[in-house]
Amino acid sequence: MIIDKDSCTACGECQTVCPTGAISPAKGVYKIDPEVCTECAGEADEPQCMNTCPDGCIDYLTA
Ligand code: SF4
Ligand code: SF4
Repeated sequence: MIIDKDSCTACGECQTVCPTGAISPAKGVYKIDPEVCTECAGEADEPQCMNTCPDGCIDYLTA
């Protein structure tokens, strides 16, 4: 998953719902570590960060 840094408002909502701790603050916005992100496999049917972001700035890395 990837965060569009131009749209992110740094609200932090995505970090609170991530089951793997892949999301952290960086350079005034938030970023997802692709080495840690599992796309929520085994945790939820859909990526929780994507469903939670109020600004719709999270999408699949390869979308
Ligand atoms: S898809 Fe799931 S594991 Fe990956 S960053 Fe989002 S909440 Fe975390
Ligand atoms: S939920 Fe969306 S706007 Fe909020 S910090 Fe995460 S990516 Fe940025």
